[in-house]
Amino acid sequence: MTDAPIRTCAGCGRKAPQRSLVRFAAQNGVLTAGRTLPGRGVYTCRRLQCFERARARRAFNRVLRQTVKIDPALSRLYTDTDIHGSRQTE
Ligand SMILES: [Zn+2]
Repeated sequence: MTDAPIRTCAGCGRKAPQRSLVRFAAQNGVLTAGRTLPGRGVYTCRRLQCFERARARRAFNRVLRQTVKIDPALSRLYTDTDIHGSRQTE
């Protein structure tokens, strides 16, 4: 039995327990990772793929109902897909 809150990944749409996802909120118009930040939250799986997808689809803006700046350094939060020596370019 679990009564953990379920949230939806903004990247792939998967539903998962809140604690297994990465939470973001807008702080002064900047997307900021943090479990305890005030305001609306948006979630992704702990996969860089989901972060990139959510960013490409502007899902962060949509969920947070505002335009947020997304620092590329946020991708460092996602250590699962550690790619040594190869940078992804846009
Ligand atoms: Zn996902």
